Amino acid sequence: MSGPQIAVIGLGATGSAALFHLARRGVHAVGIERFELGHDRGSSHGQTRIIRLAHFENASYGPMMRRAYALWRELEAIAGAKLIFTTGIAEIGPAHGTLVRGIIAGISRHGLPHEILDAQSLMRRYPSFKLPQDFAAVIQPDGGYIAAAAALEATLCIAAAAGAVIRTREKVVAVEPRPNGVHIRTDRAEIEADGAIVAAGPWMRDLLPELRLPLRVTRQVAAWFQPDDTAPFSADRFPVFILESEHGLHYGFPAYAQMGIKIAKHHHRQEIVDPDTHDRTISVADEAAIRAPLAEYLPDANGRLVSAQTCLYTMTPDETFIIDCMPRFPHVIVASPCCGHGFKFSPVVGEILADLVTRGTTDHDIRQFRLQRFADEAKGQIA
Ligand SMILES: Cc1cc2nc3c(=O)[nH]c(=O)nc-3n(C[C@H](O)[C@H](O)[C@H](O)COP(=O)(O)OP(=O)(O)OC[C@H]3O[C@@H](n4cnc5c(N)ncnc54)[C@H](O)[C@@H]3O)c2cc1C
Repeated sequence: MSGPQIAVIGLGATGSAALFHLARRGVHAVGIERFELGHDRGSSHGQTRIIRLAHFENASYGPMMRRAYALWRELEAIAGAKLIFTTGIAEIGPAHGTLVRGIIAGISRHGLPHEILDAQSLMRRYPSFKLPQDFAAVIQPDGGYIAAAAALEATLCIAAAAGAVIRTREKVVAVEPRPNGVHIRTDRAEIEADGAIVAAGPWMRDLLPELRLPLRVTRQVAAWFQPDDTAPFSADRFPVFILESEHGLHYGFPAYAQMGIKIAKHHHRQEIVDPDTHDRTISVADEAAIRAPLAEYLPDANGRLVSAQTCLYTMTPDETFIIDCMPRFPHVIVASPCCGHGFKFSPVVGEILADLVTRGTTDHDIRQFRLQRFADEAKGQIA
């Protein structure tokens, strides 16, 4: 392996995908992760993540998600493993609510495949749901879930096989950009690299304090419930779903690998936390926030709590990603694609990051992810 050396800081979904793309392009890439691979203190752990083409959160995502699907299929082919499970996704809520209106906007903008069902039709198809008459559902047939832990592992294995160096349990303590390179200090070594991708998830602000990134880290909880009968919740009979109700926005998955049904509340209890010290125990209030809509809308899923786990969202004020170069240092790339929906994008984000750090540009349209949009808020401190 020859040419420039690129450091990738943080090996969650984002950094791992970047490492994969760099290594496959023959770039000398070194990934540095402060914990063990696949650890459960950041944002990327757990067995499953939702995948969907259109997003209620942002109608412009269609083209990026089309590319992400193609790259997920490519990863499956290289890994020789099934990583994407297409169950369809049902996005359900008041017909004029934020979710249903948002998803229709995303679908219409890019002409994406879908079906719109009224409450009765949805309940005929998926009898586990009990919905009021004024609810509607949008089905995206391509939706489903990613076997997230397996996907992360496959990405890193392929990156390593292609020549990437992976250093774990090594914490980067400073990233010092220079005009023609970047000096990286870790708790074990000093590294001189030609470029870097900083993908530190909830720790981005700590690692790049000079950028004053307007990021909020919030504590999330996912729970697994055991229904009396799992058969109606099997992946061939039950979809991935997002449900908007008076209790907020909840999402869930078909029964998976004897773990029961995974359900969570998007944004959970809106708790802003420190990623190093947040409470990882599960409280009665956590469970109650997740269970809230089940008795009414999905009563057969309202079973015994089997397990629950915390996870972190890293949120921007406009709830979309940061993918950009550092001001004055085009060879140092800042990547914070979370906002609660970034996992499914990771292959395409990895491709973009590899483009930016090696070519200084990308063919993908990333204008909305620029740091500049925060400049007013930061009163010019980013410039
Ligand atoms: C509960 C929950 C549910 C979600 N559901 C979905 C979903 O259904 N679909 C979807 O698409 N997305 C979903 N997401 C979002 C998705 O998981 C995230 O967008 C994605 O995991 C972000 O990955 P990341 O690599 O940017 O961050 P992380 O996974 O947090 O990775 C950052 C890495 O950087 C490392 N690091 C930090 N600081 C340093 C340092 N100083 N030195 C070395 N290493 C460092 C950390 O240890 C960590 O491994 C969900 C997130 C959560 C929390």
